[in-house]
Amino acid sequence: MRLIVLGPPGAGKGTQSARLMQKYGIPQLSTGDMLRAAVAAGTPVGREAKALMDAGSLVPDDVVLKIIADRIEQPDAVQGFILDGFPRTVNQAKALDALLKAKNMRLDGVIELKVDEAALLGRIQARAEDMIARGCAVRADDNPDAFKTRLDAYRAQTAPVSAYYAGEGRLKSVDGMAPVEAVAAAIDLVTSAFAMT
Ligand code: AMP
Repeated sequence: MRLIVLGPPGAGKGTQSARLMQKYGIPQLSTGDMLRAAVAAGTPVGREAKALMDAGSLVPDDVVLKIIADRIEQPDAVQGFILDGFPRTVNQAKALDALLKAKNMRLDGVIELKVDEAALLGRIQARAEDMIARGCAVRADDNPDAFKTRLDAYRAQTAPVSAYYAGEGRLKSVDGMAPVEAVAAAIDLVTSAFAMT
């Protein structure tokens, strides 16, 4: 199963992707997590990405495309994967199509979490408070200023990705405002339909 989970920051992509990872036994490939690991390790990619990420802006397409091209080659991704936070631009989506075609891999489908934007800042703030309560580090971009930039980037650059996949008949939208279990159930319905096509 090869899936993409789309949605604005705070929509619950990470939570739902982690559950799908358990269910299908395939890795969750989050470009945000991979970039944060590169920043923490101080690699050249991490040094290039850090300021952009802290501000809430997207890192260049070629940087994330290289990361994804390398990652989907890994043995644990042979049976499938869940892309979380990638593609974020139509250019990335087209490059992914080309990459998968070159590797004879098929994308099963794209799930979009639809959420009410007014609720998102509250969700991000709750995530920051939860991290503090658990003694974990808060993401540098989980603050109101960076969040606004992230939402702007989503509207301008990532919302067209949904339209791209919808135009090709590969997009299924799910109500991301429902309780986590209800969102999970809706996603399970959609993914079982993908599995039959
Ligand atoms: P996320 O954890 O998915 O919210 O991503 C955190 C940050 O990493 C984003 O705000 C961007 O700066 C960067 N990032 C993650 N994925 C991508 C991507 N596919 N394209 C460009 N930038 C990305």
